[in-house]
Amino acid sequence: MVTAKPQSNPTTTTTKTKEMVHSPILTYFSVITLLSTCPPFVILLWYTMVHQDGSILNTFNYLKEHGVEGFVNIWPRPTAVAWKIIACYALFEAALQLWLPGKRVEGPISPTGNKPVYKANGVLAYAVTLVTYISLWWFGIFNPTVVYDHLGEIYSALIFGSLVFCVFLYIKGHVAPSSTDSGSSGNIIFDFYWGMELYPRIGKNFDIKVFTNCRFGMMSWAVLAVTYCIKQYETNGKVADSMLVNTVLMLVYITKFFWWEAGYWNTMDIAHDRAGFYICWGCLVWVPSIYTSPGMYLVNHPVNLGPQLAISILIAGILCIYINYDCDRQRQEFRRTNGKSLVWGKAPSKIVASYTTTKGETKTSLLLTSGWWGLSRHFHYVPEIMAAFFWTVPALFDNFLPYFYFVFLTILLFDRAKRDDDRCRSKYGKYWKTYCSKVPNRIIPGIY
Ligand code: NDP
Repeated sequence: MVTAKPQSNPTTTTTKTKEMVHSPILTYFSVITLLSTCPPFVILLWYTMVHQDGSILNTFNYLKEHGVEGFVNIWPRPTAVAWKIIACYALFEAALQLWLPGKRVEGPISPTGNKPVYKANGVLAYAVTLVTYISLWWFGIFNPTVVYDHLGEIYSALIFGSLVFCVFLYIKGHVAPSSTDSGSSGNIIFDFYWGMELYPRIGKNFDIKVFTNCRFGMMSWAVLAVTYCIKQYETNGKVADSMLVNTVLMLVYITKFFWWEAGYWNTMDIAHDRAGFYICWGCLVWVPSIYTSPGMYLVNHPVNLGPQLAISILIAGILCIYINYDCDRQRQEFRRTNGKSLVWGKAPSKIVASYTTTKGETKTSLLLTSGWWGLSRHFHYVPEIMAAFFWTVPALFDNFLPYFYFVFLTILLFDRAKRDDDRCRSKYGKYWKTYCSKVPNRIIPGIY
């Protein structure tokens, strides 16, 4: 979800419109538009994929003929089966997050000087989840096709349940924040949309953003990718190579994510974006529906690519995922070793940038200006976008809808690069200017 974000400080109590990235009118407009359009969009996407053969034109004609009443009729009501599936999954993931063993990991220092502490058990939780899910199917205990057959009801339940959850986050941010990294912008809509707490927790150990973003959102992506594959197998008696390429690439990407999960805890989603509708609703609803949508489309479109094309797409996709991983790894190793790691076999070139915290203390950070980070300031978004293209292209080009995630991701990451640049410019001042003159392109080397 892309909008202008007010760059408010977690400890301020008034809205400072001059700190917004875009004008206040545009900001209000985009926030309210996204709050009101994202939920129905999820339902329309599911309906088009599952009931209209993936054709936007078919859905458009249906809505033209039946109007608002037709839309209300296609919106599935959350059923008891849907709530049961969600509750079992959420409780299982919460239990794994709390009780599986893992190394103690510290997150980055927050603007008010706190250091969140996590238990890094993501890979184990991921493995246990997939093994359990596939075993339930294999031994005839639970058939994942039930999930696919109730997908509309599940999304409907998630839409309403997650809205209630975001209200809970808003109230918690006001009355019982978990740390000093919390505060109001002074505007109820922004507080609900962007969130109030940076590190909300239940008790001392249950981190809400790790749950919503990683263990519910990203994990559901893997679980649904497997579900789509099994559904196609159960319907057709085999899995088309297009579905295999899509599923393998998505699983490689999600495996990479959990492998690097502790690194994710240093990124903007966790260290800068607060827990509200934008991040939490996005991860609880948008990830399971929109991110998984190329696989959802392929269930009813068993395209045959042939071994040569399938393997070429697979290799290209894996390469992109690897490069994306290597970009993140390079930056994090560089920071972890205080600039002493080798970057592409050489000592890194860097800028020592100082900044002032909200408490008035002066600190320094290192900015890497060689390796992937010397090509452009957000080069890692290029392989991220390309990987999404490669796991979608097995759907070929009969319909646009499977490419929606790819287009959405491109817009999201271009907006994110701008948001991050704005934030870093205000944090590092002249040092960021020096970085921009050394590495002039924002995302695509030599072009943008
Ligand atoms: P980054 O991991 O790129 O983190 C950005 C932060 O890194 C900046 O705010 C700054 O923080 C620091 N930084 C910036 N430039 C440098 C530099 N040259 N050297 C050292 N540190 C620097 O951000 P993202 O969270 O956007 O991306 C993380 C991963 O998540 C990527 O792989 C991305 O592709 C992926 N992603 C995927 C999305 C999806 O929906 N599929 C959405 C968003 C991201 P500081 O204040 O510490 O200096």
